[in-house]
Amino acid sequence: MGNHGIPRREFMRWASAATALTPFHEAFLPRVGAALAGAVKEYPLIWMQDSACSGCSVSVINTIHPSIKNVILDQILPGHQLFLNYHSTLMAAAGRLSTDAAWETAQKNKGKYVFIVEGAIPTRDGGIDGTLGEEDGKPVTMLEWMRRLAPGAMAILAVGTCAAYGGIPSAAPNPTQSKGVGDVLKMLSVNVPVINIPGCPCHPDWFIGTVVRVLLYGIPPAKDLDEHGRLKVYYGKSVHNRCIFRDYLDDGIFATKFGEAGCMLEIGCKGPFTHADCPIRQWNSGVNWCINANAPCMGCTEPGFPDAHSPLYQRR
Ligand code: SF4
Ligand code: SF4
Repeated sequence: MGNHGIPRREFMRWASAATALTPFHEAFLPRVGAALAGAVKEYPLIWMQDSACSGCSVSVINTIHPSIKNVILDQILPGHQLFLNYHSTLMAAAGRLSTDAAWETAQKNKGKYVFIVEGAIPTRDGGIDGTLGEEDGKPVTMLEWMRRLAPGAMAILAVGTCAAYGGIPSAAPNPTQSKGVGDVLKMLSVNVPVINIPGCPCHPDWFIGTVVRVLLYGIPPAKDLDEHGRLKVYYGKSVHNRCIFRDYLDDGIFATKFGEAGCMLEIGCKGPFTHADCPIRQWNSGVNWCINANAPCMGCTEPGFPDAHSPLYQRR
């Protein structure tokens, strides 16, 4: 175990589970271990929280096995590969000291850092509805941070549906004109690869698996992403495709109210229109997932969520 929080054998078992049904075939697991523990390269990370509830940070932080400490501090950092240089909630520094860390990291590591964005970006009136820190007594907008930090990144990971597609902050009537990362980059004419990791929140395995994927293989080729910029290994099949309630559907048994046994299509399940591997991965370290808890899938990983899926509890 050494000074790591969990034994390497256990970590490898977790890596295997996290990457199940992905191109990380078991034969590649030693390479995963090498990438996560060997002294190969340094990848500074800048994690910026924009217009968001912080749920995606909480989801990733709440991983039990491995804990976020194992992932970021123990398992990844010993190889000096990942440095989480900026995360406004996790870091001790505050105010100008913290935002300077993000800016200095970007300036010193042009083309080498991974820019992680959580939350949508307000764009009305130059983005004045969302600010992060101050300079010379004036607030710096999240939009301005996108302008500063996005162009020099080797890749941008849009964590959660708000960052990927706008999500709840951009729901109608969207008075702040909030947008997802892809739309903001188009607005700013910035051309940097973006990998979307949607979900409300994002599943920790989807996040860690994507980071590992970028470490091992670099930017995923277009064939590995779907038309919405998501890795097909996690979002390639619909929730409905692997749902545990398919037998109910086939037998014509439909729930008409909450708590009733049956497929939940009539009470608003969006599983047929939603792409994610929740039925096989599950949530809270494999404890449960929406439909198994008798809650219809709300389609939280899709572009257009929540507007396109509202009213949530009515059949689409
Ligand atoms: S509960 Fe939803 S995902 Fe499951 S079979 Fe019914 S419609 Fe499909
Ligand atoms: S089952 Fe549907 S609503 Fe639940 S987390 Fe998965 S995609 Fe989101």
